[in-house]
Amino acid sequence: MDFSFTAEQQAFVDSVRRFARDQLAPGAMERAHAGRFPRDVAQLMAKQGLLGIAFSEEDGGQGGELMDAVLAIQEVALHCPRSADVVQAGNFGPIRTFVEYATAQQKARWLPGLVSGETVISLGMSEPDAGSAVTELKTHARIEGAQVVVNGTKVFSTHSPDADLFLVYVRFGPGVDGIGSVVVERNAPGFTVGRPSAFMSGETWSELHFEDCRIPESNILLREGGFRKQIAGFNVERLGNASRSLALGRYCYEQARAYAMTRRQFGRELCEFQGIQWKFAEMKVKLELAQLALYQAVLENPVGLPSAQGTAVAKLACNQAGFEVANEAMQAMGALGYSQESLVEYCVRRTRGWMIAGGSIEMLKNRIAEGVFERSFPQRAPR
Ligand SMILES: Cc1cc2nc3c(=O)[nH]c(=O)nc-3n(C[C@H](O)[C@H](O)[C@H](O)COP(=O)(O)OP(=O)(O)OC[C@H]3O[C@@H](n4cnc5c(N)ncnc54)[C@H](O)[C@@H]3O)c2cc1C
Repeated sequence: MDFSFTAEQQAFVDSVRRFARDQLAPGAMERAHAGRFPRDVAQLMAKQGLLGIAFSEEDGGQGGELMDAVLAIQEVALHCPRSADVVQAGNFGPIRTFVEYATAQQKARWLPGLVSGETVISLGMSEPDAGSAVTELKTHARIEGAQVVVNGTKVFSTHSPDADLFLVYVRFGPGVDGIGSVVVERNAPGFTVGRPSAFMSGETWSELHFEDCRIPESNILLREGGFRKQIAGFNVERLGNASRSLALGRYCYEQARAYAMTRRQFGRELCEFQGIQWKFAEMKVKLELAQLALYQAVLENPVGLPSAQGTAVAKLACNQAGFEVANEAMQAMGALGYSQESLVEYCVRRTRGWMIAGGSIEMLKNRIAEGVFERSFPQRAPR
């Protein structure tokens, strides 16, 4: 398999790098500790062509491939870790599932705002009693005439305190086949966004409450039977999660490498101690192996949706490498790495969250094992 970049890809990486270095890196520290969605960055990125990178030009995108979006999110993360979330929101997150399945009318209504960075969409999937067991979701949708009436509660949705739109997984009927999804606008009657809570990373999320929330039937994205399609779209979100994990690990590695070459203790630079050298050798191997798994998952299907198996391998490899390298880099930087004087401690907190978000590392292992043994292992307790 050839992993070298084409001349076009290299030129794109170089241009994103220049943009991220000049326009994003100067505010990286402040953004990381701000918590809320950086809308100014979204608008800046839209002008730079970094939202909708792999969407068709007809959909307001750049007509690129998934690999281009991955290259962009990595470059941005290496200069401003928090701004990589904006690339995620405008390319990999619920916006990607929306673009895949929305009608022409739905796209005309909501896509222009999303790809121009004016609006942001959040995913309402997890519920108080349906986390890893997502198909046990209870949020219910009932069709009444030309309207859909939604009732239920969602938790942990990224960007929910700031989002204008919500892609919400709902149940039209019983079982996995009863699950579909709807688009809910923030001002929909019967919909309330609760008080923001914070994750360990500092990002905020709000409970989403639907109490006889009425939306037009034309807001249905996928009817009952749509669950597998939604999860296929969600695999792109997982690759964005994997890319950011790995890139934040790499960011910390570079910070710690520079530190180890200048910080002197016992009359020598840290990099002269073998105990430190071996840490960096192990970090490098973790990063490079995870990078290959990520590119392999992306290249498997460059224009369509990635496979569940390739995505699970890539996400597991990147989540583990990202966190382990960030954590080890923090150790190599001593108290400075643990302090808010650098972004390393922030990256440790962020990479830790991605081992839970978007399919925990345990659920990824369950998925990979199904591929290994070529059979499904239902997790539900026998009745
Ligand atoms: C940073 C962050 C961002 C998130 N963003 C969103 C979002 O935008 N939208 C959204 O809907 N949700 C979001 N979530 C929620 C996320 O999808 C859930 O946290 C995740 O699915 C796990 O569910 P849970 O937290 O309820 O854990 P649980 O499902 O209760 O699991 C608890 C622990 O048990 C393990 N476990 C559970 N079942 C099994 C099993 N069968 N085998 C082995 N181990 C198992 C899990 O891996 C985990 O370690 C986010 C979460 C985080 C941390």
